[in-house]
This record gives sequence, structure tokens and C-alpha cells, in this order.
Amino acid sequence: MHAPIVAPVAEPPAAPARAGERFSFPPRAAELLRSCVHCGLCLGACPTYRELGNENDSPRGRLYLMKGLADGRIEATPAVAKHLDLCLDCRACETACPSGVHYGSILEHTRAHLQEARPPGGFERLLRAVFFRQLFPHHERLALILGLTRFMQRSGLRALLHRSGAIKLLPARLREIEAMQPELKDEPFRSNAPDVFPAWGGAPAKRVAFFSGCVMDLMMGGIHRATVKVLQAHGCEVLSVGGQACCGALMFHAGEAEAGRAVARRNLELFAGLGVDAIVNNSAGCGSTLKEYGELLPGDARAHAFSAQMRDVSEVLAALEPRVELRALDATVTYDAPCHLLHGQKISAPPLEVALRIPGLKWVALPEAEFCCGAAGIYNLTQPEMSKQVLARKVAAIAGTGARIVLTGNPGCILQIRQGCRDAGLDVEVLHPMELFARALPEREPEP
Ligand code: SF4
Ligand code: SF4
Repeated sequence: MHAPIVAPVAEPPAAPARAGERFSFPPRAAELLRSCVHCGLCLGACPTYRELGNENDSPRGRLYLMKGLADGRIEATPAVAKHLDLCLDCRACETACPSGVHYGSILEHTRAHLQEARPPGGFERLLRAVFFRQLFPHHERLALILGLTRFMQRSGLRALLHRSGAIKLLPARLREIEAMQPELKDEPFRSNAPDVFPAWGGAPAKRVAFFSGCVMDLMMGGIHRATVKVLQAHGCEVLSVGGQACCGALMFHAGEAEAGRAVARRNLELFAGLGVDAIVNNSAGCGSTLKEYGELLPGDARAHAFSAQMRDVSEVLAALEPRVELRALDATVTYDAPCHLLHGQKISAPPLEVALRIPGLKWVALPEAEFCCGAAGIYNLTQPEMSKQVLARKVAAIAGTGARIVLTGNPGCILQIRQGCRDAGLDVEVLHPMELFARALPEREPEP
């Protein structure tokens, strides 16, 4: 049996973070909360409810908690915050909900206000300060840190730190984070890119600006180069826009709304007036937030125009045809749907429609492809236990398919699933769909 929905009110034993302080709930979130009719149809879609079987860790239970906060019936105690912190913000409950509850917006409003009512302490506070205020808003700092990391990996210094045992001098949580460090094989994208990539095959069918973001730009330049090449091969002229900031997704999801708005405004300035047919991104998490700038920056007309132009790369490609013959690829492939593409942007068919054009592939369905992999922004750092539990289920599902290639269109998911498969000893490649498509293309534009 699952815990009853009334449990949060009676839950022991937690004093308010600041005694006597009333939680001030934003009117917009309070209004959105009223759309939940407590039917419970979302419960089966929720990864944390599936793992814990506790109503307080389900969408309905969390909405009940947030309503309790809004009505002043309960306070923002550490126990309440824990149930909300454990939410992956994967928005699978939104897809499942027949009443159209905007769970993601409600949670993000609530998290922003929890930050004020009950600022986190210790390690999480440090993580937030470093990530959201010192690193992500400053591309040059991020570039420096990742450049150093790349140097340590390539020079063998990192391996030496591990072999010598010096790494054990780090505190346990930092050691865990260090162990999650992906291999930085790729060179950055923007710093090595021309301003314009011409369309293949003559006059462009579309002129698009490419949103290359922050972490992906610096860590996964290969995915960006593959994406641009696939767009060119479908007749797109692609603009690389310099000076871009982080999209702000991680900040908004974590309740750091002001930090998120600051980076969003920088992007709005850069992409205004480019005269393009669309702005294209290839990251599900970024794309979901970029499409919500209009809502996240109310009153800013540029934000609405920007969001209206934003497209996931699969949406653009699905409406075009490749202008070159595709090479057949011999592999067994499966697809894991990133939450912020499927649930956040409601995009399900286009990534598969585009990938199915590649001849020779054997496709296998991934059970529970619509469930989160546990990456969820920095969730794998702040909630490592639940993240691992959720990931273990995903990896077991992948193992059951026998696929040798797993496709997923979000950087966090790629890294998380890659690590899970590696730890489980699975011989699979985890790729962005654009990387696989680029393998089916000729090296360069064929001569006319
Ligand atoms: S969020 Fe939707 S599905 Fe879940 S309990 Fe509320 S109304 Fe029902
Ligand atoms: S966002 Fe995901 S983890 Fe959070 S309540 Fe909804 S389904 Fe559950």
C-alpha cells in the first residue's frame, strides 16, 4: 500500500527553517495549482513514486504539498522541501495528466520561493553558488575550467592523480563528482566555427541560426558539428552566433530564476533581428527552456518572438529532405526519449522520423523509453542516490534490447546513460541522433 495523501501534514519532525515565517506563494503558481483534480492518473508515470511508493514523492502528493504551502496550511519545513527536491522535474506527469496541469511551472515557481524562504545549506549551497553564479553565466570561465580538465585528461595528469591515490585527498562528495567527469574528446564548437555554414546543393531551403549554448558548445563540439552538417545536407544555411550565454535551464529548474533571466536576456539581444527562418537547438533541456522564454520573462516582447522562432533540430529536419544520398549503416539501434523533448516540448515522432531515413539500421524498441534516466540537470549531483536508482532501471532496459547504439538528444542524458552503461559493462555507444545521421553522410558536399 502507498502512503496516504494526507501524510505530509502529519509528517515528523521538522521545524520551519525560519520559525514563524509564512511561505509567500506566487499568485500565478497558486492559480495553476487549482487545475489539479487529484485523480491520480499521473502516478504511474512518476519515476520517484515508482521507486519509493510514497504519495508524497508522487506528482499528486507534491501538488498537494505545494497547495498546502500556498494555502498556508503547512510550512516550508525541511521534510516538505525534501519531497520537492526529490522531484526530477522530468514533467512525465504533465504528459499523463488529462487536466493539463502545468506541473513544471508550478514546481519552478515553488522552488524559486523555497530558495528565499529556506536557502539550502552546506554542500548544495556551495554547488549552487559555483554552478549558477560563478560558472554558467560566464562562458569564458567555463571554457577555462573545461580547458584545464581537457588538459589534465590528455596529459595523463588525471590518471596519475588516480594511480598515486592523491585523488583520495578530496572530500567524498567532490571525489564522486570527479568520478562522473566525462572524457572530453571533442574540441569546442563556436571558437572553431565560421560565421556561416552554406547549404549543400545550391540555394538554401531555409536560413537558420544555431543555438550552441554553453556546456555542449565546450564539451560536445562534435555533436554540434554533426548537427550543422546534417542541417547543411538538408539544404539549410546555418549561422553560428558568437557570444551566446547558457540558456538558463539549470537555473530556472533549480529555482534560481533571477540568474536564469540574466543569461536569457543576453541571448535575446544576440538573436534579435537576424532575419532567419528559425533558431535551431539540438539539446532537449535547453530547447524546452528556450521555448519558454516568453513565459519566463513576462512583458519582454523579444522573449515571445525568440521562443516563437525556436525549434528542435528534429522539427526542422522532419520538414525537409536530405539533398544527398545516405550511406547504409549496419547497427542495432534503440531510442531513449529525453524528458524535456517528449514531455517538455511534446516532440515524439520527428527524431525517429529523421533517423529512420538512414538505410541499413535494425531498430529495437526501448521499454519505458519515456521514463527519465536520472540526469535531470544537476539532479545526479544533488540527489545521487535516487539518480542512480532511476538510472539502473534505464540501463537494465537498454541491456534487454540487445542494441549496440542508444540514441538520445540531450547532453545530460547522453553522459548519464553512457556512464550507467559503462559501469554495468554494457558494450553500447550512446549517441546524439545527429551524430548517427552524420555518419550516413558523405565526408563533404558532393561536387555538383
Ligand atoms: S496532476 Fe493531473 S493526473 Fe495528476 S492528480 Fe492532478 S489532475 Fe490528476
Ligand atoms: S516531474 Fe517527474 S519526478 Fe517530478 S512529480 Fe512529475 S513525474 Fe514525478
